[in-house]
Amino acid sequence: MSARFSKLPNLLTSLLFPERCVACHKTGALVCAICAATLHPLIRHAPGIPATWSCVSYHNPIIKRLFREWKYRGNRHAEEILIPLFLEGCKQMNLSHHDVLVPVPTQRSHNNQRGFAPPQTLAFLLQQHYGCPTQDILHYARPVKRQASLGLAKRKENMHNALVVRKGTTIVPRSAILIDDVVTSGATLAAAAHALTQHGARDIRAITLAWNP
Ligand SMILES: [Zn+2]
Repeated sequence: MSARFSKLPNLLTSLLFPERCVACHKTGALVCAICAATLHPLIRHAPGIPATWSCVSYHNPIIKRLFREWKYRGNRHAEEILIPLFLEGCKQMNLSHHDVLVPVPTQRSHNNQRGFAPPQTLAFLLQQHYGCPTQDILHYARPVKRQASLGLAKRKENMHNALVVRKGTTIVPRSAILIDDVVTSGATLAAAAHALTQHGARDIRAITLAWNP
């Protein structure tokens, strides 16, 4: 199919099924201007291992619906709202080009379904804005269940020793900031921090787009 016609299915889809605001259902955009104006960063700092800063609350129903569109349906229009909130929230975290970012890995099967990896997308944005180097050095040692499908107690067990530093990694940063899209129980971030500390990292913090207590 030529480039001219390759966009035809998307065009037809948008004509037949126009985007509706996830909050008020008005047609035209994934979030209309009126509903978008109600969204602001809501920073949460959770002490723990690792200490975690998050930019927006998953309890905001608009954020929750946008996340579902983004993460589970691969709808990248959600980034038009989520990314500015993330960058606005990160302004308060005093990032510098000395901070090394380590995106939390996502399982390849999930990325294949949605077409991208949310933590890598967020780390890339911070790299662009603050010059922070990114080291994508963690991966899954074994398949795990989707954390969202499990209760809090089972999440820790599911992630126990599930993440490791990739073989052949020559430099593991002494100090790192883990990047993930959402923190719930903290079990995934704890497993990522554990994998880095096994290789000598000592100062590990985390930044997530959303928090979901
Ligand atoms: Zn609306």
